[in-house]
Amino acid sequence: MSMRQNDSPSTRPASSPEMRERGAERALGLLLLVDLVNEIAPGDPVTAPERWRDVLLRHGADAADLARQPPPHATAVLAAVARLRALFAVREMAELAAHVNPVLAAEGARPRLAEVRPGAWAVRAETDEDGDPALRVLVVGAFALAAWAAERGRIAWGICAAAGCNRTFIDEGRRAPQRFCRPACATRSRVRAHRARLGG
Ligand SMILES: [Zn+2]
Repeated sequence: MSMRQNDSPSTRPASSPEMRERGAERALGLLLLVDLVNEIAPGDPVTAPERWRDVLLRHGADAADLARQPPPHATAVLAAVARLRALFAVREMAELAAHVNPVLAAEGARPRLAEVRPGAWAVRAETDEDGDPALRVLVVGAFALAAWAAERGRIAWGICAAAGCNRTFIDEGRRAPQRFCRPACATRSRVRAHRARLGG
């Protein structure tokens, strides 16, 4: 008898978007990483620190906490986002390990069981409180992605396959790996492929 019998697709109700959102947010902060990568334009140091702050606040960061920290340097934000984007481009577990393990080692990441919000507990990586805030988020994010991949047994995220999109996503599906960031991109790609087949 399988221990995961209750997880089979036939008995499991389809989850609502809200439930799926909570699933990915579940202590991992994965949707925060997605937004950081999608909303901070590479090579734009003028808007980067403000967008960084906006995304953190939207994902429940404490405004007073953020105000107490030194603001992240634009170059550090852009570097952290570039390294997060590189993680979203990884397709193999061994390649992920080669990316993540040096980040955790170099920054002296310490795993810690923490109450990330009332009643929600997660194992997270922590680094020195005085460290650069952008680097700290990179470490937390690298650890969270590694934990998510280990739990799912595969690279359960990606960069949208739709032409010209480039947005990242977290794959919470149970069946075929997700290729697009949202249904609109999947539809657009299907239409394009169909037109190409017709020779249009
Ligand atoms: Zn897309």
